[in-house]
Amino acid sequence: MNLRDALFINGRWVQPVLGGKLEVFNPADGKVFHTISAASAQDVDHAVRAARLAFDEGSWPRLSGKERARYLRRIAEVIRGRLSAIAETEVRDNGKPRPEAEWDIGDAAYCFEYYARMAEEFDDNRSESITLPDARFETKVMREPVGVVGAIIPWNYPLLMAAWKVAPALAAGCTVVLKPAEQTSLTALELAGIAEEVDLPPGVLNVVTGFGADAGQSLVDHPMVDKLAFTGSGAVGSKIMAAAAKDIKRVSLELGGKSPFLVFEDSDLDKAVEWVMFGIFWNQGQVCSATSRVLVHERIYQNFIDRLVVEAKKISIGDGLQAGTLLGPLVSELQHQRVTAAVEKAVADGATILTGGGRPEGLEAGYFFEPTILTDVPLTSSAWLDEIFGPVVCVRPFASEKEAISLANDTRFGLASAVMTEDTKRAERVAAALRTGTVWVNCSQPSFTEAPWGGYKQSGIGRELGRWGFENYLETKQVTAYVSGEPWGWYLK
Ligand code: NAD
Repeated sequence: MNLRDALFINGRWVQPVLGGKLEVFNPADGKVFHTISAASAQDVDHAVRAARLAFDEGSWPRLSGKERARYLRRIAEVIRGRLSAIAETEVRDNGKPRPEAEWDIGDAAYCFEYYARMAEEFDDNRSESITLPDARFETKVMREPVGVVGAIIPWNYPLLMAAWKVAPALAAGCTVVLKPAEQTSLTALELAGIAEEVDLPPGVLNVVTGFGADAGQSLVDHPMVDKLAFTGSGAVGSKIMAAAAKDIKRVSLELGGKSPFLVFEDSDLDKAVEWVMFGIFWNQGQVCSATSRVLVHERIYQNFIDRLVVEAKKISIGDGLQAGTLLGPLVSELQHQRVTAAVEKAVADGATILTGGGRPEGLEAGYFFEPTILTDVPLTSSAWLDEIFGPVVCVRPFASEKEAISLANDTRFGLASAVMTEDTKRAERVAAALRTGTVWVNCSQPSFTEAPWGGYKQSGIGRELGRWGFENYLETKQVTAYVSGEPWGWYLK
Protein backbone atom coordinates (compact mmCIF):
# COMPACT_ATOMS: atom_id res chain seq x y z
CA MET A 1 0.00 0.00 0.00
CA ASN A 2 1.14 3.51 -0.82
CA LEU A 3 1.59 5.14 2.60
CA ARG A 4 0.43 8.73 2.83
CA ASP A 5 2.22 11.49 4.70
CA ALA A 6 0.25 14.74 4.25
CA LEU A 7 -2.77 16.23 6.01
CA PHE A 8 -6.19 15.87 4.37
CA ILE A 9 -7.94 19.23 4.56
CA ASN A 10 -10.87 20.44 2.47
CA GLY A 11 -10.55 17.51 0.07
CA ARG A 12 -6.85 18.12 -0.64
CA TRP A 13 -3.56 16.70 0.57
CA VAL A 14 -1.51 19.49 2.08
CA GLN A 15 1.81 19.74 3.89
CA PRO A 16 1.70 21.21 7.40
CA VAL A 17 2.23 24.97 7.46
CA LEU A 18 5.17 24.76 9.89
CA GLY A 19 6.56 21.59 8.27
CA GLY A 20 6.09 19.42 11.38
CA LYS A 21 6.95 15.74 10.99
CA LEU A 22 6.35 12.59 13.01
CA GLU A 23 8.19 9.26 12.76
CA VAL A 24 6.24 6.02 12.42
CA PHE A 25 7.72 3.01 14.24
CA ASN A 26 7.10 -0.67 13.62
CA PRO A 27 6.49 -1.99 17.17
CA ALA A 28 7.76 -5.43 16.17
CA ASP A 29 11.34 -4.19 15.57
CA GLY A 30 11.36 -0.65 16.94
CA LYS A 31 12.51 0.74 13.57
CA VAL A 32 11.18 3.83 11.81
CA PHE A 33 9.57 2.88 8.49
CA HIS A 34 7.72 6.04 7.52
CA THR A 35 7.30 9.72 8.34
CA ILE A 36 3.99 11.59 8.53
CA SER A 37 2.94 15.17 9.16
CA ALA A 38 2.51 16.77 12.56
CA ALA A 39 -0.20 19.43 12.37
CA SER A 40 0.10 22.70 14.24
CA ALA A 41 -2.71 24.93 15.51
CA GLN A 42 -2.72 26.68 12.10
CA ASP A 43 -3.35 23.43 10.22
CA VAL A 44 -6.09 22.47 12.64
CA ASP A 45 -7.64 25.90 12.16
CA HIS A 46 -7.69 25.34 8.36
CA ALA A 47 -9.30 21.93 8.84
CA VAL A 48 -11.96 23.21 11.25
CA ARG A 49 -12.79 26.16 8.97
CA ALA A 50 -13.16 23.75 6.03
CA ALA A 51 -15.49 21.55 8.09
CA ARG A 52 -17.42 24.64 9.25
CA LEU A 53 -17.91 25.90 5.70
CA ALA A 54 -18.94 22.43 4.48
CA PHE A 55 -21.50 22.30 7.26
CA ASP A 56 -22.83 25.86 7.06
CA GLU A 57 -22.88 26.28 3.29
CA GLY A 58 -22.14 22.92 1.71
CA SER A 59 -24.52 20.23 0.55
CA TRP A 60 -23.69 17.53 3.11
CA PRO A 61 -26.12 18.31 5.97
CA ARG A 62 -28.80 19.15 3.38
CA LEU A 63 -28.58 15.87 1.48
CA SER A 64 -31.19 13.25 2.22
CA GLY A 65 -30.12 10.35 4.42
CA LYS A 66 -30.37 8.11 1.37
CA GLU A 67 -27.90 10.28 -0.54
CA ARG A 68 -25.43 10.29 2.36
CA ALA A 69 -25.85 6.53 2.73
CA ARG A 70 -24.56 6.05 -0.82
CA TYR A 71 -21.22 7.59 0.15
CA LEU A 72 -21.01 5.54 3.35
CA ARG A 73 -21.68 2.34 1.44
CA ARG A 74 -19.00 3.22 -1.10
CA ILE A 75 -16.51 3.82 1.73
CA ALA A 76 -17.39 0.40 3.18
CA GLU A 77 -17.04 -1.24 -0.22
CA VAL A 78 -13.57 0.20 -0.79
CA ILE A 79 -12.45 -0.80 2.73
CA ARG A 80 -13.67 -4.36 2.12
CA GLY A 81 -12.02 -4.49 -1.29
CA ARG A 82 -8.69 -3.55 0.27
CA LEU A 83 -9.13 -5.33 3.59
CA SER A 84 -5.98 -7.38 3.48
CA ALA A 85 -3.67 -4.47 2.56
CA ILE A 86 -5.24 -2.15 5.16
CA ALA A 87 -4.92 -4.88 7.81
CA GLU A 88 -1.24 -5.28 6.94
CA THR A 89 -0.67 -1.55 7.39
CA GLU A 90 -2.49 -1.71 10.73
CA VAL A 91 -0.21 -4.52 11.90
CA ARG A 92 2.95 -2.66 10.92
CA ASP A 93 1.70 0.49 12.64
CA ASN A 94 0.10 -0.99 15.78
CA GLY A 95 1.71 -4.42 16.18
CA LYS A 96 -1.45 -6.51 16.63
CA PRO A 97 -1.66 -10.01 15.11
CA ARG A 98 -2.88 -9.99 11.53
CA PRO A 99 -6.12 -11.96 12.11
CA GLU A 100 -7.15 -9.40 14.76
CA ALA A 101 -6.34 -6.54 12.38
CA GLU A 102 -8.50 -8.24 9.74
CA TRP A 103 -11.40 -8.43 12.22
CA ASP A 104 -10.99 -4.74 12.98
CA ILE A 105 -10.97 -3.68 9.34
CA GLY A 106 -14.01 -5.86 8.56
CA ASP A 107 -15.79 -4.36 11.59
CA ALA A 108 -14.88 -0.84 10.42
CA ALA A 109 -16.46 -1.56 7.01
CA TYR A 110 -19.54 -2.99 8.74
CA CYS A 111 -19.80 0.14 10.89
CA PHE A 112 -20.07 2.29 7.71
CA GLU A 113 -22.70 -0.10 6.30
CA TYR A 114 -24.66 -0.07 9.55
CA TYR A 115 -24.77 3.73 9.73
CA ALA A 116 -25.61 3.90 6.02
CA ARG A 117 -28.79 1.99 6.92
CA MET A 118 -29.42 4.34 9.82
CA ALA A 119 -29.01 7.39 7.54
CA GLU A 120 -31.60 5.91 5.18
CA GLU A 121 -34.06 5.27 8.00
CA PHE A 122 -33.43 8.78 9.30
CA ASP A 123 -35.30 10.21 6.29
CA ASP A 124 -38.53 8.73 7.68
CA ASN A 125 -38.05 9.59 11.34
CA ARG A 126 -36.12 12.85 11.47
CA SER A 127 -39.24 14.69 12.59
CA GLU A 128 -42.36 13.87 14.56
CA SER A 129 -45.47 15.79 15.51
CA ILE A 130 -46.36 15.80 19.16
CA THR A 131 -49.80 16.39 20.61
CA LEU A 132 -50.14 19.36 22.96
CA PRO A 133 -52.85 19.99 25.53
CA ASP A 134 -53.51 23.36 23.86
CA ALA A 135 -55.03 22.90 20.37
CA ARG A 136 -54.06 26.44 19.34
CA PHE A 137 -50.50 25.20 18.88
CA GLU A 138 -48.87 22.55 16.74
CA THR A 139 -45.39 21.27 17.51
CA LYS A 140 -42.99 19.33 15.34
CA VAL A 141 -39.83 17.88 16.87
CA MET A 142 -36.95 17.68 14.42
CA ARG A 143 -33.59 15.96 14.69
CA GLU A 144 -30.70 17.82 13.08
CA PRO A 145 -26.96 17.22 12.80
CA VAL A 146 -25.01 18.76 15.65
CA GLY A 147 -22.50 20.50 13.35
CA VAL A 148 -18.70 20.28 13.19
CA VAL A 149 -17.33 17.30 15.10
CA GLY A 150 -13.79 17.09 16.46
CA ALA A 151 -13.01 13.37 16.76
CA ILE A 152 -9.92 12.31 18.73
CA ILE A 153 -9.01 8.63 18.90
CA PRO A 154 -6.44 6.32 20.54
CA TRP A 155 -4.01 3.81 19.07
CA ASN A 156 -5.43 0.45 20.13
CA TYR A 157 -7.98 0.00 17.31
CA PRO A 158 -6.91 2.71 14.90
CA LEU A 159 -9.27 2.35 11.92
CA LEU A 160 -12.11 0.88 13.98
CA MET A 161 -12.11 3.78 16.47
CA ALA A 162 -12.14 6.19 13.51
CA ALA A 163 -15.15 4.34 12.05
CA TRP A 164 -17.03 4.37 15.36
CA LYS A 165 -17.00 8.18 15.24
CA VAL A 166 -16.80 9.12 11.57
CA ALA A 167 -19.55 6.76 10.33
CA PRO A 168 -22.38 7.91 12.67
CA ALA A 169 -21.28 11.56 12.45
CA LEU A 170 -21.37 11.54 8.63
CA ALA A 171 -24.62 9.55 8.61
CA ALA A 172 -26.23 12.23 10.80
CA GLY A 173 -25.06 15.00 8.44
CA CYS A 174 -22.17 16.37 10.51
CA THR A 175 -18.78 17.29 9.15
CA VAL A 176 -15.68 15.97 10.87
CA VAL A 177 -12.09 16.79 11.74
CA LEU A 178 -10.41 13.55 12.79
CA LYS A 179 -7.20 13.53 14.87
CA PRO A 180 -5.79 10.00 15.05
CA ALA A 181 -3.28 8.91 17.70
CA GLU A 182 0.29 9.93 16.90
CA GLN A 183 1.44 6.29 17.27
CA THR A 184 -0.99 4.91 14.67
CA SER A 185 -2.20 7.34 12.03
CA LEU A 186 -1.69 5.38 8.83
CA THR A 187 -5.12 3.80 8.44
CA ALA A 188 -6.86 7.10 9.29
CA LEU A 189 -4.91 8.61 6.40
CA GLU A 190 -6.02 5.67 4.28
CA LEU A 191 -9.62 6.47 5.27
CA ALA A 192 -9.06 10.04 4.07
CA GLY A 193 -7.76 8.61 0.78
CA ILE A 194 -10.92 6.53 0.48
CA ALA A 195 -13.07 9.61 1.16
CA GLU A 196 -11.26 11.30 -1.71
CA GLU A 197 -11.76 8.28 -3.94
CA VAL A 198 -15.52 8.17 -3.35
CA ASP A 199 -15.76 11.95 -3.98
CA LEU A 200 -16.96 12.88 -0.53
CA PRO A 201 -17.57 16.65 -0.82
CA PRO A 202 -14.56 18.77 0.29
CA GLY A 203 -14.42 19.61 3.99
CA VAL A 204 -16.83 16.85 5.05
CA LEU A 205 -14.02 14.66 6.41
CA ASN A 206 -10.66 16.18 7.30
CA VAL A 207 -7.79 14.23 8.84
CA VAL A 208 -5.06 16.01 10.78
CA THR A 209 -2.26 13.85 12.12
CA GLY A 210 -0.06 15.10 14.94
CA PHE A 211 0.60 15.20 18.64
CA GLY A 212 -2.10 15.40 21.28
CA ALA A 213 -0.73 18.50 22.99
CA ASP A 214 -0.63 20.48 19.69
CA ALA A 215 -3.05 19.13 17.10
CA GLY A 216 -5.39 17.52 19.63
CA GLN A 217 -5.52 20.46 22.02
CA SER A 218 -6.03 22.97 19.16
CA LEU A 219 -9.01 20.95 17.97
CA VAL A 220 -10.45 20.82 21.49
CA ASP A 221 -10.00 24.57 21.97
CA HIS A 222 -11.29 25.64 18.54
CA PRO A 223 -14.41 27.79 18.94
CA MET A 224 -15.91 26.63 15.63
CA VAL A 225 -16.15 23.00 16.78
CA ASP A 226 -19.63 22.09 18.03
CA LYS A 227 -18.94 18.66 19.45
CA LEU A 228 -15.96 16.68 20.69
CA ALA A 229 -16.00 12.90 20.49
CA PHE A 230 -13.04 11.42 22.34
CA THR A 231 -11.70 7.99 23.11
CA GLY A 232 -8.56 7.72 25.20
CA SER A 233 -7.23 8.04 28.70
CA GLY A 234 -9.14 9.44 31.66
CA ALA A 235 -6.50 12.12 32.21
CA VAL A 236 -6.92 13.54 28.70
CA GLY A 237 -10.69 13.02 28.80
CA SER A 238 -10.90 15.12 31.93
CA LYS A 239 -8.84 17.91 30.29
CA ILE A 240 -11.10 17.81 27.25
CA MET A 241 -14.22 18.08 29.36
CA ALA A 242 -12.78 21.06 31.22
CA ALA A 243 -11.75 22.78 27.97
CA ALA A 244 -15.15 22.09 26.38
CA ALA A 245 -16.86 23.83 29.28
CA LYS A 246 -15.51 27.16 28.00
CA ASP A 247 -17.82 27.24 24.94
CA ILE A 248 -20.30 24.60 26.18
CA LYS A 249 -19.24 22.17 23.44
CA ARG A 250 -21.05 18.87 23.37
CA VAL A 251 -18.77 16.08 24.62
CA SER A 252 -18.83 12.32 24.53
CA LEU A 253 -16.02 10.42 26.23
CA GLU A 254 -14.97 6.78 26.04
CA LEU A 255 -12.26 6.31 28.63
CA GLY A 256 -10.45 3.57 30.49
CA GLY A 257 -11.46 0.64 32.64
CA LYS A 258 -10.34 -1.96 35.16
CA SER A 259 -12.92 -4.54 34.24
CA PRO A 260 -13.68 -7.44 36.58
CA PHE A 261 -14.34 -11.02 35.46
CA LEU A 262 -16.27 -13.06 38.08
CA VAL A 263 -15.81 -16.81 37.87
CA PHE A 264 -18.34 -18.67 40.06
CA GLU A 265 -17.85 -22.16 41.45
CA ASP A 266 -20.34 -23.75 39.02
CA SER A 267 -18.48 -22.48 35.93
CA ASP A 268 -17.22 -24.70 33.16
CA LEU A 269 -13.48 -24.26 33.87
CA ASP A 270 -12.27 -24.79 30.30
CA LYS A 271 -14.59 -22.10 29.04
CA ALA A 272 -13.73 -19.79 31.92
CA VAL A 273 -10.00 -20.09 31.20
CA GLU A 274 -10.55 -19.54 27.47
CA TRP A 275 -12.64 -16.37 27.94
CA VAL A 276 -10.30 -14.97 30.60
CA MET A 277 -7.33 -15.56 28.25
CA PHE A 278 -9.11 -13.76 25.44
CA GLY A 279 -10.40 -11.06 27.79
CA ILE A 280 -6.93 -10.02 28.89
CA PHE A 281 -4.48 -11.13 26.21
CA TRP A 282 -6.10 -10.22 22.89
CA ASN A 283 -4.69 -7.05 21.38
CA GLN A 284 -1.86 -7.49 23.94
CA GLY A 285 -4.26 -6.42 26.70
CA GLN A 286 -4.38 -2.92 25.23
CA VAL A 287 -8.15 -2.91 25.38
CA CYS A 288 -10.22 -0.44 27.37
CA SER A 289 -12.57 -3.26 28.43
CA ALA A 290 -9.80 -5.84 29.07
CA THR A 291 -10.84 -8.06 31.97
CA SER A 292 -7.79 -7.19 34.04
CA ARG A 293 -9.19 -8.18 37.47
CA VAL A 294 -10.28 -11.80 37.68
CA LEU A 295 -12.23 -12.86 40.76
CA VAL A 296 -12.54 -16.61 41.24
CA HIS A 297 -14.57 -18.52 43.82
CA GLU A 298 -12.19 -19.93 46.45
CA ARG A 299 -13.36 -23.52 45.85
CA ILE A 300 -12.05 -23.56 42.28
CA TYR A 301 -9.38 -20.88 42.65
CA GLN A 302 -6.28 -23.10 42.73
CA ASN A 303 -7.48 -25.30 39.91
CA PHE A 304 -8.36 -22.22 37.85
CA ILE A 305 -5.02 -20.45 38.22
CA ASP A 306 -3.04 -23.65 37.59
CA ARG A 307 -4.83 -24.03 34.26
CA LEU A 308 -4.61 -20.35 33.40
CA VAL A 309 -0.84 -20.40 33.92
CA VAL A 310 -0.43 -23.50 31.71
CA GLU A 311 -2.46 -21.88 28.91
CA ALA A 312 -0.80 -18.46 29.20
CA LYS A 313 2.62 -20.08 28.79
CA LYS A 314 1.51 -21.60 25.49
CA ILE A 315 0.72 -18.28 23.81
CA SER A 316 2.87 -17.72 20.74
CA ILE A 317 4.52 -14.30 20.84
CA GLY A 318 5.99 -12.60 17.78
CA ASP A 319 5.63 -10.22 14.87
CA GLY A 320 1.95 -9.73 14.14
CA LEU A 321 2.57 -10.48 10.48
CA GLN A 322 4.01 -13.92 11.27
CA ALA A 323 1.46 -16.70 10.86
CA GLY A 324 0.42 -18.23 14.19
CA THR A 325 1.24 -15.19 16.34
CA LEU A 326 -1.33 -14.70 19.12
CA LEU A 327 0.42 -11.92 21.00
CA GLY A 328 2.23 -9.15 19.15
CA PRO A 329 4.33 -6.32 20.58
CA LEU A 330 2.92 -3.44 22.62
CA VAL A 331 2.32 -0.33 20.57
CA SER A 332 5.34 1.75 21.57
CA GLU A 333 8.47 1.92 23.65
CA LEU A 334 6.65 4.24 26.08
CA GLN A 335 3.85 1.71 26.52
CA HIS A 336 6.46 -1.03 27.11
CA GLN A 337 8.09 1.10 29.80
CA ARG A 338 4.72 1.81 31.41
CA VAL A 339 3.69 -1.86 31.57
CA THR A 340 7.14 -2.90 32.85
CA ALA A 341 6.98 -0.24 35.58
CA ALA A 342 3.43 -1.25 36.56
CA VAL A 343 4.50 -4.89 37.08
CA GLU A 344 7.62 -3.87 39.03
CA LYS A 345 5.48 -1.65 41.26
CA ALA A 346 2.97 -4.50 41.80
CA VAL A 347 5.79 -6.77 42.97
CA ALA A 348 7.12 -4.05 45.26
CA ASP A 349 3.58 -3.82 46.70
CA GLY A 350 3.63 -7.56 47.50
CA ALA A 351 2.24 -9.20 44.34
CA THR A 352 3.45 -12.62 43.15
CA ILE A 353 4.17 -13.23 39.48
CA LEU A 354 2.87 -16.68 38.47
CA THR A 355 4.08 -16.36 34.91
CA GLY A 356 5.51 -13.67 32.65
CA GLY A 357 6.55 -10.32 34.06
CA GLY A 358 8.80 -8.92 31.37
CA ARG A 359 10.31 -9.16 27.91
CA PRO A 360 10.12 -12.65 26.40
CA GLU A 361 13.42 -14.39 25.83
CA GLY A 362 14.75 -14.15 22.28
CA LEU A 363 12.70 -11.06 21.39
CA GLU A 364 15.21 -8.36 22.20
CA ALA A 365 14.10 -5.85 19.54
CA GLY A 366 10.56 -4.45 19.48
CA TYR A 367 8.18 -3.85 22.34
CA PHE A 368 7.23 -7.39 23.38
CA PHE A 369 5.87 -8.22 26.82
CA GLU A 370 4.95 -11.67 28.15
CA PRO A 371 1.44 -12.68 29.18
CA THR A 372 1.60 -11.98 32.89
CA ILE A 373 -0.46 -13.37 35.77
CA LEU A 374 -0.30 -11.71 39.18
CA THR A 375 -1.75 -12.90 42.48
CA ASP A 376 -1.57 -11.53 46.03
CA VAL A 377 -2.08 -8.01 44.66
CA PRO A 378 -3.12 -5.77 47.57
CA LEU A 379 -6.45 -3.99 47.06
CA THR A 380 -4.60 -0.71 47.60
CA SER A 381 -1.97 -1.44 44.95
CA SER A 382 -2.03 0.56 41.75
CA ALA A 383 -1.94 -2.76 39.84
CA TRP A 384 -5.38 -3.52 41.27
CA LEU A 385 -6.77 0.01 40.98
CA ASP A 386 -5.37 1.48 37.78
CA GLU A 387 -5.42 0.52 34.16
CA ILE A 388 -2.17 -1.16 33.03
CA PHE A 389 -3.15 -1.47 29.36
CA GLY A 390 -0.97 -4.48 28.70
CA PRO A 391 -1.20 -8.31 28.95
CA VAL A 392 -1.27 -8.29 32.75
CA VAL A 393 -4.04 -9.82 34.83
CA CYS A 394 -4.58 -9.76 38.61
CA VAL A 395 -6.35 -12.87 39.96
CA ARG A 396 -7.93 -13.02 43.40
CA PRO A 397 -10.21 -15.47 45.28
CA PHE A 398 -13.62 -14.62 46.73
CA ALA A 399 -15.84 -16.48 49.22
CA SER A 400 -19.37 -15.35 48.38
CA GLU A 401 -21.44 -13.71 45.65
CA LYS A 402 -21.81 -10.64 47.85
CA GLU A 403 -18.05 -10.30 48.24
CA ALA A 404 -17.48 -10.82 44.49
CA ILE A 405 -19.93 -8.04 43.59
CA SER A 406 -18.48 -5.72 46.19
CA LEU A 407 -14.89 -6.28 44.94
CA ALA A 408 -16.02 -5.91 41.33
CA ASN A 409 -17.76 -2.58 41.96
CA ASP A 410 -14.99 -1.22 44.18
CA THR A 411 -13.36 0.79 41.40
CA ARG A 412 -13.62 4.28 39.94
CA PHE A 413 -14.23 2.72 36.53
CA GLY A 414 -17.41 1.24 35.08
CA LEU A 415 -16.82 0.24 31.49
CA ALA A 416 -17.38 -3.52 31.42
CA SER A 417 -17.54 -6.69 33.48
CA ALA A 418 -18.01 -10.40 32.89
CA VAL A 419 -19.73 -13.20 34.79
CA MET A 420 -19.11 -16.91 34.36
CA THR A 421 -21.76 -19.21 35.82
CA GLU A 422 -24.10 -22.00 34.75
CA ASP A 423 -26.85 -20.56 36.96
CA THR A 424 -29.07 -18.22 34.90
CA LYS A 425 -30.72 -16.68 37.94
CA ARG A 426 -27.35 -15.83 39.43
CA ALA A 427 -26.18 -14.38 36.09
CA GLU A 428 -29.22 -12.08 36.03
CA ARG A 429 -28.78 -11.06 39.65
CA VAL A 430 -25.10 -10.30 39.33
CA ALA A 431 -25.52 -8.50 35.97
CA ALA A 432 -28.09 -6.22 37.64
CA ALA A 433 -25.73 -5.49 40.54
CA LEU A 434 -22.65 -4.64 38.47
CA ARG A 435 -22.18 -0.91 37.78
CA THR A 436 -20.78 -1.13 34.25
CA GLY A 437 -21.97 -0.14 30.77
CA THR A 438 -21.51 -3.70 29.49
CA VAL A 439 -21.91 -6.99 31.34
CA TRP A 440 -20.82 -10.11 29.51
CA VAL A 441 -22.32 -13.42 30.64
CA ASN A 442 -20.28 -16.56 29.94
CA CYS A 443 -18.03 -14.62 27.56
CA SER A 444 -15.89 -11.49 27.53
CA GLN A 445 -15.12 -8.78 24.95
CA PRO A 446 -17.32 -9.35 21.88
CA SER A 447 -18.98 -6.03 21.05
CA PHE A 448 -21.54 -5.48 18.33
CA THR A 449 -22.16 -2.39 16.23
CA GLU A 450 -25.88 -2.63 17.09
CA ALA A 451 -25.40 -2.46 20.88
CA PRO A 452 -24.51 0.62 22.98
CA TRP A 453 -20.91 0.93 24.13
CA GLY A 454 -19.68 3.16 26.94
CA GLY A 455 -19.02 3.46 30.61
CA TYR A 456 -20.46 4.24 34.02
CA LYS A 457 -18.48 6.36 36.47
CA GLN A 458 -15.04 7.52 35.28
CA SER A 459 -15.14 5.29 32.20
CA GLY A 460 -16.88 7.99 30.23
CA ILE A 461 -19.96 9.91 29.25
CA GLY A 462 -22.43 8.95 26.52
CA ARG A 463 -22.65 5.84 24.41
CA GLU A 464 -21.23 4.94 21.02
CA LEU A 465 -22.59 2.45 18.50
CA GLY A 466 -26.15 1.45 17.74
CA ARG A 467 -28.81 4.14 17.67
CA TRP A 468 -27.25 5.59 20.82
CA GLY A 469 -24.09 6.34 18.86
CA PHE A 470 -26.17 8.09 16.19
CA GLU A 471 -27.91 10.24 18.83
CA ASN A 472 -24.48 11.59 19.82
CA TYR A 473 -24.40 13.54 16.57
CA LEU A 474 -27.92 14.99 16.63
CA GLU A 475 -29.53 18.09 18.08
CA THR A 476 -33.23 18.26 18.91
CA LYS A 477 -35.31 21.21 17.72
CA GLN A 478 -38.96 21.97 18.31
CA VAL A 479 -40.88 24.04 15.76
CA THR A 480 -44.05 25.29 17.41
CA ALA A 481 -46.70 27.11 15.39
CA TYR A 482 -49.66 29.14 16.63
CA VAL A 483 -52.47 27.87 14.39
CA SER A 484 -55.46 29.59 15.97
CA GLY A 485 -57.12 32.53 14.20
CA GLU A 486 -57.83 34.15 17.57
CA PRO A 487 -55.57 36.84 19.04
CA TRP A 488 -53.23 35.58 21.72
CA GLY A 489 -55.00 37.74 24.24
CA TRP A 490 -52.18 38.99 26.46
CA TYR A 491 -53.38 42.57 26.12
CA LEU A 492 -55.97 42.39 23.28
CA LYS A 493 -59.13 41.23 24.93
P1 NAD B 1 -4.41 9.27 25.32
O1 NAD B 1 -5.51 9.86 26.09
O2 NAD B 1 -3.03 9.58 25.69
O3 NAD B 1 -4.54 9.67 23.77
C1 NAD B 1 -5.73 9.51 23.07
C2 NAD B 1 -5.80 10.58 21.99
O4 NAD B 1 -5.85 11.85 22.60
C3 NAD B 1 -4.60 10.61 21.05
O5 NAD B 1 -5.05 10.91 19.74
C4 NAD B 1 -3.78 11.76 21.59
O6 NAD B 1 -2.97 12.38 20.63
C5 NAD B 1 -4.88 12.71 22.04
N1 NAD B 1 -4.48 13.69 23.04
C6 NAD B 1 -3.49 13.58 23.99
N2 NAD B 1 -3.44 14.73 24.71
C7 NAD B 1 -4.40 15.56 24.22
C8 NAD B 1 -4.83 16.85 24.56
N3 NAD B 1 -4.26 17.57 25.55
N4 NAD B 1 -5.87 17.39 23.87
C9 NAD B 1 -6.46 16.70 22.89
N5 NAD B 1 -6.07 15.47 22.51
C10 NAD B 1 -5.06 14.91 23.17
O7 NAD B 1 -4.72 7.73 25.35
P2 NAD B 1 -3.93 6.57 24.64
O8 NAD B 1 -2.75 6.25 25.45
O9 NAD B 1 -3.73 6.89 23.21
O10 NAD B 1 -5.05 5.40 24.68
C11 NAD B 1 -5.16 4.57 25.74
C12 NAD B 1 -6.36 4.95 26.58
O11 NAD B 1 -7.57 4.98 25.82
C13 NAD B 1 -6.62 3.94 27.67
O12 NAD B 1 -6.83 4.59 28.89
C14 NAD B 1 -7.89 3.22 27.22
O13 NAD B 1 -8.66 2.67 28.21
C15 NAD B 1 -8.60 4.27 26.47
N6 NAD B 1 -9.51 3.65 25.50
C16 NAD B 1 -10.85 3.63 25.76
C17 NAD B 1 -11.74 3.02 24.87
C18 NAD B 1 -13.22 3.00 25.15
O14 NAD B 1 -13.99 2.66 24.28
N7 NAD B 1 -13.67 3.36 26.32
C19 NAD B 1 -11.26 2.47 23.70
C20 NAD B 1 -9.89 2.51 23.45
C21 NAD B 1 -9.02 3.11 24.37
